[in-house]
Amino acid sequence: MQGPDRLRLPRVDRVAARPELDRARAALGERVVVDLVRAAISEVRRAVLVGGRAEPPDEAEVARDAQARAEAILTSRMRRVVNATGVLLHTNLGRAPLGAKARDAVAELASGYCSLELDLSTGKRGGRARFVEAALCALTGAEAALVVNNCAAAVLLLLAAVARGREVIVSRGELVEIGGGFRVPEIMAESGATLVEVGTTNKTRARDYERALEAHPAAAAILRVHQSNFVQVGFVERPALAELAELSRSRGLPLLEDLGGGALVDLSAAGLSGEPTVGASIAAGVSAVTFSGDKALGGPQAGAIVGSATLVEAARRHPLARAVRLGRLPMAALEATLAAYLDGSAGRGVPVLALAHATYDEVRRRAERWAEVLRAAGATATVVDTEAELGGGALPGRTVRSAALRVMPAECGVEAFAARLRGGRPAVVGRVQEGGVLFDARTVLDDEDELLLGRITGSLKG
Ligand SMILES: *Cc1c(COP(=O)(O)O)cnc(C)c1O
Repeated sequence: MQGPDRLRLPRVDRVAARPELDRARAALGERVVVDLVRAAISEVRRAVLVGGRAEPPDEAEVARDAQARAEAILTSRMRRVVNATGVLLHTNLGRAPLGAKARDAVAELASGYCSLELDLSTGKRGGRARFVEAALCALTGAEAALVVNNCAAAVLLLLAAVARGREVIVSRGELVEIGGGFRVPEIMAESGATLVEVGTTNKTRARDYERALEAHPAAAAILRVHQSNFVQVGFVERPALAELAELSRSRGLPLLEDLGGGALVDLSAAGLSGEPTVGASIAAGVSAVTFSGDKALGGPQAGAIVGSATLVEAARRHPLARAVRLGRLPMAALEATLAAYLDGSAGRGVPVLALAHATYDEVRRRAERWAEVLRAAGATATVVDTEAELGGGALPGRTVRSAALRVMPAECGVEAFAARLRGGRPAVVGRVQEGGVLFDARTVLDDEDELLLGRITGSLKG
């Protein structure tokens, strides 16, 4: 290996001290800047030794490279985003936005200590998540409930508690991958349960489950999985949930269901019929259901297991439960979100529900208002009809009628316009389409009109 001197590479300390890196040093500290300079130098060393670069770069060039690396780190910090994509639960944008009460609850509980595990009536240690669990039972009709960090953790925990070292029966049509690395066969293997596949990709009948139960009499459970992010059409069949529940009851083993979405109320009034509710699964006789807090429920990232007291308590006692427990800030947001369902204000107070239930006329009128404001400011703005979707692994292929503002930038390219929109505060994310940027009015929160219009006019000017 040749030393830096033989290659005449710039010295780390000299580059790190250069004024180009002042801003990075102030924001990230000396240590990070030195590491970034080292990384930049080691890359040019490779370029010279292996890449055939003739001249080593000077200090200024290496400093510029380190500066770009620092910028990338600084801009990677999370930033508020106005979601004009038309996808209500956008995984890249943090899924469900919180309602005002949930935001206030987080702010209040984050600004001091809180009674997370203290019973204030007795002054003694109390259970975690009592309110949330009672609310989930009331809202779903389940006997018991447990909350964890996300739905993936809920599935892992439930399977580990109920079926470790034993077999679990799953239809071949439900061995799904949800995204972000969650695959049913893999999570099953991690839980220590053994997968028994039944049926075929497109058709699984009750008879297939019966045969599997005859061949595997010691099986721990039947697992049903919501297909979430894809649809099967054509020659397709699977037994009704109630039929499967009856079968598992008659054989004395539990029916588990990974619902993913976790709608607590029927969304058909919003034109999103077909998304099953947790309560319907419990009513159909499912022994334990797992679902997310930040999908159709419209709360923070969280996961829940609701169902029979025996199964829920088995999960609560399992050592993994401690490793996947919910933090106090999402707990605060979940409490406030569930409180809105209990007091009947969820339709207005849970943003995902409010946005989904807005009528097409309301959404269209809002987009028209935006267009008028922008045209008055000299922009080329029109309104087009669109189809918004729920997203978040619920109701794939199902859409809600919506409308979008369409802005054609006059002074820059459409990609540059979209990049400027993403680059500001708050960032604005729309959809680039046919030479313009579409801003779907279905997914922009009630109080974001001014923010959105301000950022659009600012980005048009450059
Ligand atoms: C989304 C989803 C999950 C994962 O939920 P997270 O809360 O993101 O962990 C698991 N199962 C199904 C069926 C899903 O749709």
